[in-house]
Amino acid sequence: MNEALRRRKARAAATAAGVDGLLLTHGADVRYLTGFTGSNGALAMAGGRAALFTDGRYTTQARAEAAGLRVVISPKPAAVAAAEWLAERGIKRCGFDAAQTTVAGLDRIRKALPGKLRRSFFAPTDGLVARLREIKDADEIARIRRAAKAGCSLFDVALEHIAAGVTESEVAAQLELAARRAGADGMSFETIVASGKRSALPHGRATAAKLPRRGFCTLDFGVLLDGYCSDMTRTVHLGKPTTREWDVYHLVLEAQVAAVAAVRPGATCGEVDEAARSVLRKAKLHTFFTHSTGHGVGLEIHEGPRLASKQVQVLEPGMVVTIEPGVYIPGEFGVRIEDMVLVTASGGDVLTAASPKAWTEL
Ligand code: ZN
Ligand code: ZN
Repeated sequence: MNEALRRRKARAAATAAGVDGLLLTHGADVRYLTGFTGSNGALAMAGGRAALFTDGRYTTQARAEAAGLRVVISPKPAAVAAAEWLAERGIKRCGFDAAQTTVAGLDRIRKALPGKLRRSFFAPTDGLVARLREIKDADEIARIRRAAKAGCSLFDVALEHIAAGVTESEVAAQLELAARRAGADGMSFETIVASGKRSALPHGRATAAKLPRRGFCTLDFGVLLDGYCSDMTRTVHLGKPTTREWDVYHLVLEAQVAAVAAVRPGATCGEVDEAARSVLRKAKLHTFFTHSTGHGVGLEIHEGPRLASKQVQVLEPGMVVTIEPGVYIPGEFGVRIEDMVLVTASGGDVLTAASPKAWTEL
């Protein structure tokens, strides 16, 4: 059971962080440690014991998905019921994720505790499970591979629909229909189709704008398959490019390839970022590269590690990261190219290699 092994690791991390209990409420963390996919769940861990708290809507689902784990159905908010259970088990100091908890939420669960525990009980152990989730196990890698492969097949579908006069929304709709047909639970984020001048918007969601006769079209999209996200970007060109468009595309590609090549265990996230950034700096385009080079992908579309300037975190085998440099020239055009890369024992394995990155003119 993967989840039981993951809970053991979480318990060890909790001990190392100086807490004897854990209260987890973030959906992706709960799913990771229990298998439960419902929207309302809290996991309480006390020493060797653990229990999943949810409400009556999820009785059957929780028992099936979190097999082997104690499931408690409660009319109270799941986190409140979990906090009470932890206090009853004699927990002295309980870790929780402040970054995933609202002030009001913390106040509510504190009030559920006996008066003498209220001040000292909760201690923030932020990112404790998020850090475990950065290193994917074999089952997760298999799922992510499938999601990435499905993503690549969608790009082929999108290419069939890209033509001057077609709206961005229509391209996105065709891509999303194909995703559903391929068995995806949905998209992992809102599909980006940004054409012409709009390609200069790094997060240009598909609009009613029509694709131009000449200009770039950037597609950034991902599927949610079996709980795991894919994420990739390709930029294609309609009609003949200007020299500048051609040059910028090839410099972004050079930067992207350089960063992919820099992915290996032991490299810092900052070094990988710099591999891309230095190519664009030499070409004096770095001021148009306005975001970080990449991010981890898994149960969530954006998770650790963060591949950004000066980040000292070291890449480890089993991490899955994106490499996505871009250049955005306001009022003119933009180019981004993004792959998902698995960090292996010796380097990086590009999971979205099935979609070519060479200049594509339609
Ligand atoms: Zn993306
Ligand atoms: Zn991304």
